[in-house]
Amino acid sequence: MSILIKNSKIVTQNKNREVVEGDLYIEGQEIIEIGRISTEADFVIRDKIVMPGLINMHTHLPMVLLRGYGDDLPLEEWLTNRIWPAEAKLKKSHISAGTKLALLEMSATGTTTCNDMYFFEDVIANEAKKFGMRCYAGFSLLDFDTPEMKKEELLPECEKFIRRWKGDEFITPVIAPHATYTCSPETLDKARELQKKYDAFVHIHCSETRKEVYDVLEKYGKRPPEQIKEYGLLNKKTILAHCGWITKQEVKEIALAGACVAHNPVSNMKLATGGYTPLPELFDADACVSLGTDGAASNNKLDMFETMKFAALIHKHHRWNPSIVTAQETLDMATINAAKFLGLNAGSIEEGKKADVITLDARAVNLMPSHNNIISHIVYAASGFNVDNVIINGKVIMNDRKFIGIDVENVYKEVEKAKNELID
Ligand SMILES: [Zn+2]
Repeated sequence: MSILIKNSKIVTQNKNREVVEGDLYIEGQEIIEIGRISTEADFVIRDKIVMPGLINMHTHLPMVLLRGYGDDLPLEEWLTNRIWPAEAKLKKSHISAGTKLALLEMSATGTTTCNDMYFFEDVIANEAKKFGMRCYAGFSLLDFDTPEMKKEELLPECEKFIRRWKGDEFITPVIAPHATYTCSPETLDKARELQKKYDAFVHIHCSETRKEVYDVLEKYGKRPPEQIKEYGLLNKKTILAHCGWITKQEVKEIALAGACVAHNPVSNMKLATGGYTPLPELFDADACVSLGTDGAASNNKLDMFETMKFAALIHKHHRWNPSIVTAQETLDMATINAAKFLGLNAGSIEEGKKADVITLDARAVNLMPSHNNIISHIVYAASGFNVDNVIINGKVIMNDRKFIGIDVENVYKEVEKAKNELID
């Protein structure tokens, strides 16, 4: 299959961050050419803003089922009275329905790769593969039973999960010790052994709330990043979700270790965690910083355009400095930074890269008028619902806002059924 995108503004995110006026030619899974192209193609799209697909570095896909369920509550009450009782009832069919809905929402708003962490991860990986979404699938490790299995089964099943998915084109198995307050030193040790054995990524929540930091400090005499480091998990294949309550010294340690921070500004603000992931300091230290939505129970969307805007605004406001996090730095976090960290041959539009490409309606009312700063429009003016075409690995998933070969109404039915079973 070949795809030609004609007469468009192409935000390449290449080394020089060039924006090219012209055409883009895709063949098979790959970007073949950028420029003025006269080749014929099977599929032609015209007059768009073209950009790399976005990378959501921290999410819990099936939690879309709990979107809007128990908002505006204190964190502890929200978890104890709403989220955990509903999650305790989770079955495979619910996970499958929720994942399908999340995949629709993510791709409809321009995400082409996600980094997930949840229960029943095998079901999630299967749905993502069927859909054609790139998914780093995090198998959760905890010190207590999950809705899926007994705690003793988690480690052996995690290893089987890694073996099952290693080398897959769309799915990358990830080890996901939930956090330092939910994983004992023994569990962290075992996670490190698995990481070493399979050279796998580790995905862990880190210093999301102040309470978490002081609970871990009290229990183990170390703050979460130190605890993660102590058990050998602070390294260049570890994704640290949140880091809203980290110190300047911890910023240095994270940068030195080559770990990647996944910043989730919308979820942090909605749950009122009060911490500000120190982006300026992380940037100064040359640390990898990426963006995530977190689960839709605490966001309540999976829209990375909205996350980009919040990510830039929260720090400008907090530091009384409108230049502190720029539009370009924000777009980098959502694309090329994450791709580089993951070793993914995507995240920019360059010849030879995988064709993970999205287009935006250049005539949308909120993108008028068109100045020469399209990056500003993407970060501050666009919404995920300006995305009108989505191509992942050279395959058109959505064309003119219509999903190809997916019965959306049927997904909504499954989701409604799952919701009714989970929430009385
Ligand atoms: Zn999370």
